[in-house]
Amino acid sequence: KAMKIGFIGLGNMGGPMAANLAKAGHDVVGFDMAEVNIDGVTMVSSGAEAAAGADAVITMLPNGSILRAVAADVIPAMSKGAVLIDCSTVDVDSARAVDADTQAAGLLFVDAPVSGGIGGAAGGTLTFMAGGSAEAFGKADPLFDIMGQKAVHCGDAGAGQAAKICNNMILGVTMIATCEAFALADKLGLDRQKMFDVVSTSSGYSWTMNAYCPAPGVGPQSPADNDYQPGFAADLMLKDLRLSQQAAESADADTPMGALAQALYAQFVENEDGLGMDFSAMLPRFEKRGR
Ligand code: NAD
Repeated sequence: KAMKIGFIGLGNMGGPMAANLAKAGHDVVGFDMAEVNIDGVTMVSSGAEAAAGADAVITMLPNGSILRAVAADVIPAMSKGAVLIDCSTVDVDSARAVDADTQAAGLLFVDAPVSGGIGGAAGGTLTFMAGGSAEAFGKADPLFDIMGQKAVHCGDAGAGQAAKICNNMILGVTMIATCEAFALADKLGLDRQKMFDVVSTSSGYSWTMNAYCPAPGVGPQSPADNDYQPGFAADLMLKDLRLSQQAAESADADTPMGALAQALYAQFVENEDGLGMDFSAMLPRFEKRGR
């Protein structure tokens, strides 16, 4: 049956996600700080207004401090038993803090960051990694079904964010390793196609080599073949690496490779020409540099 859904943060990701919910027949009421217009979505002028009377409120916001501010506004306006679903990528501590506030207010909460990017949001093919109670996940799952193709219930509140930042820490480290290996291969006079043919079927294979090869003209179509236009921007990779390092510090975990990846992406984005480039543009970066 049609649900009333409040949707807050209708940017590159949230906009198409909200449009898909409306297209599926739900009554979607949206709020964004910026002036936006989304097919089928009724826009209102505050988060509280979007949340009032909703069965579910979905947030898709830039970071944890904005999430906390929006949650403080929205939670008092929500009806008892309704579920707050945060799909943003934020720090684990913010997810757990918002969970505690929803519980105190008699509400349900799921942290449900996504992978799949803007294409996945538009096509309704996102993957959700979710944390929260079984009851909360059960309420959110039919909506994940509309916005995505897969939802994994990872554990209690915060577990979705934990899965997301662990995955993306592997992704950042692996992309750097793949790029520096290509740059070394160049200097050793090894042909890039041969390098791909060997590594993609040997023990050095990875998603970054096999599915998103950073070398233009090699492997499947990827941002490297489009002048490194994102794709997945280097500054978003940096954001996620910072979240994993923040989590490692707060949980006292030893993550030296993640720390190095964070430092390198920070250098690339803040002091070099990485801003606005895909995160695979680490390869031309290494190409330009000797030891
Ligand atoms: P975006 O900047 O396009 O959208 C964020 C929206 O939130 C904007 O429209 C902004 O106006 C709105 N906003 C900011 N503060 C607000 C407030 N206080 N109240 C109401 N609205 C507010 O960003 P995006 O690309 O849609 O990403 C959203 C989240 O999804 C981020 O956490 C990002 O890390 C995550 N994510 C993005 C991608 C991607 O490929 N873009 C992929 C996976 C996850």
